[in-house]
Amino acid sequence: MKNIKDLNLENKKVIIRCDFNVPIKEGKIIDDTRIVASLQTINYCLEHHAKIILMSHLGRVKEESDLAKNDLAPVAVRLAELLNRPVKFIPQTRGSALEEAIATMNPQDIILMQNTRYEDLEGKKESSNDEELGKYWASLGDIFINDAFGTAHRAHASNVGIATHLPSAPGFLIEKELTALNSLNDPEHPFIVILGGAKVSDKIGVIANLVKKADKIIIGGGMAFTFLKAQGYETGTSLIDSDSLEFCTNILKEYANKIILPIDVAITTEFTEKEEYKVKPINDILQNEMGLDIGPKTLELFEENLKDAKIVVWNGPLGVYEFSKYKVGTDKLLAYLVNNNIKTILGGGDIVAAANNYKEQVYHASTGGGATLEYLEGKILPGIEVLK
Ligand code: AMP
Repeated sequence: MKNIKDLNLENKKVIIRCDFNVPIKEGKIIDDTRIVASLQTINYCLEHHAKIILMSHLGRVKEESDLAKNDLAPVAVRLAELLNRPVKFIPQTRGSALEEAIATMNPQDIILMQNTRYEDLEGKKESSNDEELGKYWASLGDIFINDAFGTAHRAHASNVGIATHLPSAPGFLIEKELTALNSLNDPEHPFIVILGGAKVSDKIGVIANLVKKADKIIIGGGMAFTFLKAQGYETGTSLIDSDSLEFCTNILKEYANKIILPIDVAITTEFTEKEEYKVKPINDILQNEMGLDIGPKTLELFEENLKDAKIVVWNGPLGVYEFSKYKVGTDKLLAYLVNNNIKTILGGGDIVAAANNYKEQVYHASTGGGATLEYLEGKILPGIEVLK
């Protein structure tokens, strides 16, 4: 795979596929993290006097009414502020206005094209990697840089399509993701996996792939209760994923010594934050009770299993982190990893959102939920594969 630094960008029309899929409410950007994250690659292209053509998707476009709310125009305004230079927004995804704007570009000019998913309105051209569309977009540039890790697990016209027709390389953001995630291919040991979140069924692929490589798999969150039920415990009204019971039974049988489950939990009777909770051992859950976080003894058990870890990957929170009371287990374990300098990769599902206060302190917090999850399942990411 080429590196951006291997490419001569001078005076070239460089298409950068960014991830500008930011939350926008009434035309205002609520969180510009993803725009800020794209600056390193854009600045590098500016320093090397490229003509910069930016593309990104925003939200989903299924019908006419999705167009206005997924208009990329506010991103051009914010990006211009951050770069302190003009960013010309072209409100179309094809046609003469776009082509003429590109034809008259000077080095260091920046154009942002309209949301690539506007092409999904008729025939899902972007999302189904329509051949003609990928070829057309590629014809607008000389070089392609993919810096959108969040869509790397999908073959779209704006990543795979364009890359098929142009000299291509990953941007700095994707490179950083790959460096971190690739360290799991041949991991240092002990390699420990922490899994939480809601459903076992969402994580079967991850468990099946990582249980072979990891020394231990620590399980918390809602998914722990399906494992506990498979072991014969009463789990009350806790989240249970009945379709995955058989999978849990089998994996517990085969890898009994690798799987670490909670031994106590924070129990309540209502799925709200108002109710008081009790901490109970897992053999004492009543029929009307549900577990919403791990308990203190479990935290100790998890810490004990992590103390010598050389690398940790963590997917999914250990409790209902949206309620601050049930975020305690997740927070405390994060603090333990950070305070003990344990090399930790956070990725997939809601763990990065739950770990907001620790994002800067961990070794790597991945930006691509779905892409990271598929990577952890051992799947090939087409948006990366095509760059090879
Ligand atoms: P994921 O997207 O797989 O990371 O799942 C995150 C979701 O799992 C969050 O919305 C959490 O509230 C939820 N979750 C974590 N622990 C529990 C639990 N014990 N009971 C119910 N939901 C949980």
